[in-house]
Amino acid sequence: MKINENFLKIQNSYLFSMIAQKVSEFKEKNPEADVIRLGIGDVTRPLAPEVIKAMHSAVDEMAQESTFKGYPPAYGYDFLLNAINQNDFAPRGVKLDIDEIFVSDGAKSDAGNIGDIFSVDNKVAICDPIYPVYIDANVMAGRSGTLNDKNEWSNFVYLPCTAENNFLPELPKEHADLIYLCFPNNPTGMAISKEELKKWVDWANEHKSLILYDAAYEAYITEDLPHTIYEIEGAKTCAIEFRSFSKTAGFTGTRCAYTIVPKELVFDGVSLNKLWARRQGTKFNGVSYVTQKAAEAIYTPEGKKQVREVINYYLNNAKVIKSGLSGAGFRVWGGVNSPYIWLKTPEGMSSWDFFDALLSKANIVGTPGSGFGPAGEGFFRLTAFGSAERTAEAVERIKNLF
Ligand code: PLP
Repeated sequence: MKINENFLKIQNSYLFSMIAQKVSEFKEKNPEADVIRLGIGDVTRPLAPEVIKAMHSAVDEMAQESTFKGYPPAYGYDFLLNAINQNDFAPRGVKLDIDEIFVSDGAKSDAGNIGDIFSVDNKVAICDPIYPVYIDANVMAGRSGTLNDKNEWSNFVYLPCTAENNFLPELPKEHADLIYLCFPNNPTGMAISKEELKKWVDWANEHKSLILYDAAYEAYITEDLPHTIYEIEGAKTCAIEFRSFSKTAGFTGTRCAYTIVPKELVFDGVSLNKLWARRQGTKFNGVSYVTQKAAEAIYTPEGKKQVREVINYYLNNAKVIKSGLSGAGFRVWGGVNSPYIWLKTPEGMSSWDFFDALLSKANIVGTPGSGFGPAGEGFFRLTAFGSAERTAEAVERIKNLF
């Protein structure tokens, strides 16, 4: 028996466990410290009342023989697929069949699992910095090659997102088969315009590449920007899109998401929609009825209003952080179409040095930019998912400190 040695290549100090360890060491030494966490990208507001109502009533159905549900359909119940289609796509002029939508337990699972249907020989292009799951999943699958001393994998094409390009990557200069894009972006909080996204769609179609588009934060878009890549002409022949109820509606603990695989996606004469249906049908047994009922409830008129209130609450936190830090002289990005604020560390400090300074002097936890890739060095991420009071308090502390 041999193990998959690719797993051994993954650095064991996963970013958030490293942060947790540093925070717990600090708290042990400073038990009185009032630590504010603006680090991990997890939500804090409870589920919307409409969602809770729908869950309770779904639980009651499960308690009766006449309405009890066993295994759900592997790709999602029609009631949820239709609600997604009618609310997230039709109003934006995007026509989908419901069998192009695959409900799942998370965009993380889907972004990780999608690699099952692609050859290990594909060249992967990845934004830098980026949500680490795309990288680690491809390392595990054997697409990465080896890690160099700059923390770059030899087989990946890196697309640096820097202050100079306003955190919008340039088109690849070499061939790439699979291109991961995430807008609004985690960690930079920056979003992409239709014109910019069109360049990627055209490039992918021309080079017969596939874009894996993560739109987990589309609900935070406040400006006139594309919410789905399928608003761009030509995207259905070159893009898969990941969506999630996690940040849209506080489902990080409830678990529900979906992925769009258009039927027009045909590579080597094979339909990716059919391949993904086969993969999910074999390895995934669907999302619970109660959870899908909960997700459906965000599309009712009252549900929409309640979910929007929470998103606006977080967006207001983002505004408070952004304006407070800019006022204190920091260079700051994101926070307008995103719950993430990306800042340049002062005086050329490294990301981890800034983390340590912020924790020890202001008792605030953020996320070092270098944890999201080599180009994140010298940057830092704060999130707007805390309470309004604690967020305001954190901003005051940072302003006083710097
Ligand atoms: N995609 C991005 C870009 C994320 O930042 C996250 C979570 O932080 C996810 C996906 C995970 O989504 P889910 O909770 O649906 O697995």
